[in-house]
Amino acid sequence: VGVFFRPIDKINAIIETYPRGIAGFQRYTAFLDTRPDIADREGARDAGRLKGEVAYSGVRFGYAADRPILNGLDLCVRAGETVALVGPSGAGKTTICSLLLRFYEVTGGAITVDGIDIRDLTLASLRSNIGIVSQDVFLFAGTIRDNIAYGRLGASDAEIAEAARRARLDGVIAALPDGFDTVIGERGVKLSGGQKQRLAIARIFLKNPPILILDEATSALDTETERAIQRSLADLSQGRTTLVIAHRLATIAHADRILVVEDGRVTEEGGHADLLSREGGRYRQLHEAQTGDAPHRLAIANDTIAN
Ligand code: ATP
Repeated sequence: VGVFFRPIDKINAIIETYPRGIAGFQRYTAFLDTRPDIADREGARDAGRLKGEVAYSGVRFGYAADRPILNGLDLCVRAGETVALVGPSGAGKTTICSLLLRFYEVTGGAITVDGIDIRDLTLASLRSNIGIVSQDVFLFAGTIRDNIAYGRLGASDAEIAEAARRARLDGVIAALPDGFDTVIGERGVKLSGGQKQRLAIARIFLKNPPILILDEATSALDTETERAIQRSLADLSQGRTTLVIAHRLATIAHADRILVVEDGRVTEEGGHADLLSREGGRYRQLHEAQTGDAPHRLAIANDTIAN
């Protein structure tokens, strides 16, 4: 057993490494505790493992009282469904996802998961049901193994290795001087942007949440890395409710449904081909704008669609 399960002092070791990686840690906790006034309601219950049906009904929200961002947003995502949120910058896509995590409180309407108002669930149990993959990967000074294990403290070596494999990180790790024991961070091996993202994906495989938020990277990765990551993300989203904040056509093509968000409302929804066929449609316009700007991204998208 000792061989397969990380002893408890390993967890302490992970926690002790935080001070060295404090910049990242502070950024991370700042992110999680954006609003310290958001706390568990009296009688809030443990979510347990949710199925992951997400619904927004009549959701209103603004960061400042005089500037509404969401004006009665309705949106329903079935358990296991992948929905891409597209729309102009500032439309409210990130805000929609932040509200599901309860980084902020809605000012009107409600968000439910499996029919339960998220305010009736404890914050910790709600968030333990949600995985986030974003551009900003939080790494701390420590081994690759510990950094992956952060997805679920106490995971066994075998589970960590499996998560790395599913995230297509195993090849990278095999090429490192000490494999899983390689120290990364400021004083250790520096990971590339694509490797960091794969590490983030490995963490989520380990965490295994029913709900996933993909805040898509906007930074340029080479095409091959991008494809590998897209494949890992597609695997990761299998069987999970997935909200993708999509900036690229490649990810959108994987979605079961695309929602065009504008001014805090869903203005169009449908499948990729269906939306593209709508003469004068918003999605079609956004698509044309993007393909005009970035021909190589279109190539990726078309390739993905063809497959
Ligand atoms: P992008 O595609 O550029 O990421 P988005 O659709 O995700 O945009 P949001 O990030 O949700 O849009 O932003 C919606 C609006 O809310 C914008 O006008 C933005 O400036 C504002 N906003 C976002 N975060 C905050 C914040 N923490 N405080 C105040 N205003 C914010």
